[in-house]
Amino acid sequence: MTNITKNQIDELKKMMELELAQLVNETQEEMDPESKPSYIDVGGDGDSGDEAVADTIVDTDNAVIGLHLQKAIDLNAALDRIQSGVYGVCIDCGDSVSFERISAYPTAKRCISCQHLREKMFASEPKSNL
Ligand SMILES: [Zn+2]
Repeated sequence: MTNITKNQIDELKKMMELELAQLVNETQEEMDPESKPSYIDVGGDGDSGDEAVADTIVDTDNAVIGLHLQKAIDLNAALDRIQSGVYGVCIDCGDSVSFERISAYPTAKRCISCQHLREKMFASEPKSNL
């Protein structure tokens, strides 16, 4: 369960929907409008949509568009979690993510402790040893 109220979630939802819409607009402008209008349809009605966008990121060699799409996926995933009623719940430990954290990072999937743990794990990988 989460300690974030429905009103707080509604506010964040509105914010994220707006950001997602802007992102989609910007990205559409950056891309060739002639090519594929449905290219960045991240609205999706299920898992397949997310995968299609992920494929697009691999395919595109435009870093800016790639970043925008990654952000769009994050926003879309967060909105999906709101819809499923699991927004604000850590995907690793199932504890609630604090409102402080979720308002700073509305797309956060993990509580602060799990996020730190994860960052530590990645930081200790040999590739960071330059
Ligand atoms: Zn956690």
